[in-house]
Amino acid sequence: MSSPYPLGLRLTDRRVVVVGGGAVATRRVPALLDAGADVLLVAPEISPALHAHADAGRLRWVPRRFSPDDLDDAWLVHVAIDDPDAAATVSAAAAQRRIFCVRADDREAATAWTPAVTRHGPVTVAVLGGGDPRRAMTVRDAIRTLLRERKGPLLTHSVEQGAPVNTPTGAPGRVALVGAGPGDPELITVRGWRLLTEADVVVADRLVPGLLLDELRTGVELVDASKIPYGPARTQEEINRILVDRALAGAFVVRLKGGDPYVFGRGGEELLACAAAGVPVTVVPGVTSSVAAPAAAGIPVTHRAVAHEFTVVSGHVAPDSPASLVRWDALAALRGTLVILMGLKNLSEITATLLEHGRPAETPAAVVQEGTTGAQRTLRSTLGSVAADVAAAGVRPPAVVVVGDVVGVLPLV
Ligand code: SAH
Repeated sequence: MSSPYPLGLRLTDRRVVVVGGGAVATRRVPALLDAGADVLLVAPEISPALHAHADAGRLRWVPRRFSPDDLDDAWLVHVAIDDPDAAATVSAAAAQRRIFCVRADDREAATAWTPAVTRHGPVTVAVLGGGDPRRAMTVRDAIRTLLRERKGPLLTHSVEQGAPVNTPTGAPGRVALVGAGPGDPELITVRGWRLLTEADVVVADRLVPGLLLDELRTGVELVDASKIPYGPARTQEEINRILVDRALAGAFVVRLKGGDPYVFGRGGEELLACAAAGVPVTVVPGVTSSVAAPAAAGIPVTHRAVAHEFTVVSGHVAPDSPASLVRWDALAALRGTLVILMGLKNLSEITATLLEHGRPAETPAAVVQEGTTGAQRTLRSTLGSVAADVAAAGVRPPAVVVVGDVVGVLPLV
């Protein structure tokens, strides 16, 4: 048998007909929509996920069986039905019009095959298994792993995005502010991980999971931002300067920050510094410890009929300090969940202020130290006692304090 001829179809605004509305169609349609195809879905009944696409206007659904003139303006047709006679009717209509036809039910009758695919930023890898879809998936999985780990210079940036990897000269560089997640190295986003593996320079925070850095490819310049001397204000200036200088020299710089870059992470300041220097910046959100650390300890920040709000607040400035921007009296009046970051040092003042303004002393409270890591530790208490309990137990930063009835709603982790 002759081998298939691979192509990348450019489907923007081109009609693709999908016949069938079950599991196969549900799996195929998102990639067609992502490719910008004008999808016409023909099926008497469709799955809830396909319904959602139709309701949102992302595709057009005709709720009936296939008719050959459905293919009139089509470039491609996907047959995703089990009935071989009905599928053969579509195949025949497609052949008559010289339209390629993918058949989920019968690959021999198909005139085109769908490959197993992995996408890695701008790169798409498509694998055909010589008639064996399992083999295609196995090879695809191996390539996906290779691309994610990338021990060598496999990937290059596109021209618009900046300099090719490993050649930080001449071409303009760029900066990505990437959220590393709360501590578990698996809780970085897929995009964040990809950019990290592409970086020429990585500027990392103290709270960044060490294992992420362990896997950087050789040759990457790693700047440990927590080791930069000077006081806190100078340190931020120095970090901004490193980001801008390296990018202007052509490097792709990843600024890796604990949790989410914009949650008490000074990400905005770094973005402004880059923008002022004309350096392009992208921001990749991260899983914030304010939600993830409680979750890892079995505390949902909201729960039906228990808490309809959660408030995340920094406790690094004492409530009575003139520098405080927080209305602790107003927070004390809320019934929902309060999550306090950087709150250990001022915890007795904070809890005293909340009690003084009316939050009941018996409100459940918990402290989660080093959430999502192997060193995670949880202390459960009440608003009235938590400050003393934290001191007695020797709880250390990084830790989040959670106040509210959600603390007791799930079993202990
Ligand atoms: N941008 C980060 C927060 C930075 S402020 C985020 O979105 O998570 C630093 C504070 O975050 C710490 O003082 C602590 O209160 C909290 N924190 C960060 N990682 C944590 C973890 N693994 N467990 C508990 N608290 C954590």
